[in-house]
Amino acid sequence: MTTQRIALSIAGSDPTGGAGLQLDLQVFRSLGVHGSAVPTALTVQDTAKVRQVLPAFPSVVLDQLRVLIADLPPHAVKIGMLATDDVLRSVDLVVSALPDPIQLVIDPILHASDGTSLLERRAWPGLTELFARAALVTPNRPEAGALTGREVESRRQVEDAARCFVEELGARAVLIKGGHADGSPDDCLCLQEAGRTELRWLGGERHDVGPVHGTGCALSAAITAELALGKPLDAAVDSGRQFVRGAIARSWTAGAGGRLLGLP
Ligand code: PLP
Repeated sequence: MTTQRIALSIAGSDPTGGAGLQLDLQVFRSLGVHGSAVPTALTVQDTAKVRQVLPAFPSVVLDQLRVLIADLPPHAVKIGMLATDDVLRSVDLVVSALPDPIQLVIDPILHASDGTSLLERRAWPGLTELFARAALVTPNRPEAGALTGREVESRRQVEDAARCFVEELGARAVLIKGGHADGSPDDCLCLQEAGRTELRWLGGERHDVGPVHGTGCALSAAITAELALGKPLDAAVDSGRQFVRGAIARSWTAGAGGRLLGLP
């Protein structure tokens, strides 16, 4: 028997390798897990801008996932960009059939940093329904606001939204990222422990290197890899945040747009 662990990414393709599926696979490799991958969309993009999104055929996403998972059952799964409601339904069908509890991390990507929509608006309710299957959801503050229908700016509002993900939407845990906030980029982790909702603020420090592509994708992928390796959730979140901090510190100017992460 092999001891190799498997993490599956279900995400959009980013040809630059700086975000999306291509980045997820690099993160998995760098943390020592085998990466399997099902693309939900092709994109035309460079480091500056997403120019086009071409969703995958939903039936092909469904077939790929069914065939893949029957042969290579993953130890943890990450869901990133889903593009359309139809693609989301295919993913939901497969994920809902996996034995509970699954180590599922959902990065609820709605828009790219340049504002391009990466999930059509009518799919947002379906995305929130998927949260009930998640070990962890990793929205940034704008995503948390859009998906809970709340204002998410002050610390108190972040805490209320975090409770909403866990107590109302049924996620086992949520990490609301502070990278889009002014000031210190602290993240708020909310999880259920012994039937109680626990809130923890995790302190961050800002690296003033300018825009870096794919930080959210890398964080959710690193946490997924750590869960695949068997780490408990809070330790996986700590390791994932440390991994991304290091990758931002090593980030480099590649093309005309955002910097790319420097993976170890
Ligand atoms: N392309 C794909 C496929 C992505 O998943 C993402 C990230 O969410 C992006 C582009 C945008 O990355 P960023 O927000 O770093 O520009």
